[in-house]
Amino acid sequence: MPGGPGRREPGNGCRMTEMSCRLCGELPASMTAYLDRDEELPAATRSLVWVGRSFRRCPECGAWFFRDYWPPGAGNVGDFETLQRLAGTLLDAVAALLAEGGPEGAGDATARVLAAGASEQDGDILEEAWIWRLSQPGGGIPGFAGLLLELHQ
Ligand SMILES: [Zn+2]
Repeated sequence: MPGGPGRREPGNGCRMTEMSCRLCGELPASMTAYLDRDEELPAATRSLVWVGRSFRRCPECGAWFFRDYWPPGAGNVGDFETLQRLAGTLLDAVAALLAEGGPEGAGDATARVLAAGASEQDGDILEEAWIWRLSQPGGGIPGFAGLLLELHQ
């Protein structure tokens, strides 16, 4: 059996590191495009694969990104969109939730994000990932309701 040290991890499905990825390696950790000023996210983001309405995945290296849209706000604040490269425990949880093979370990991974002191935005991203999972066939996950409540405390 091949294997050994190169164990596959969620979100890091091959040996290529994200920074060396020819597709997404140049993308910063977080991007904002002010749509009312005709700005666009970097061209490379168009090659990312959509997963649900809020997640994008690099087809080359498997990196995960979270996309958000902010409608026009009070005053002269126009609408804008953001794209954020996921990392750390949040990446682990999102990758587990969105995994094609099913959400193995997603509950534990989510609990680790919460235990580390999730920010409000982390909570929003996790919630989106959970909602996506629940929308999939057989998407029910034991303990989901409790975790969702915890996110909102
Ligand atoms: Zn990539």
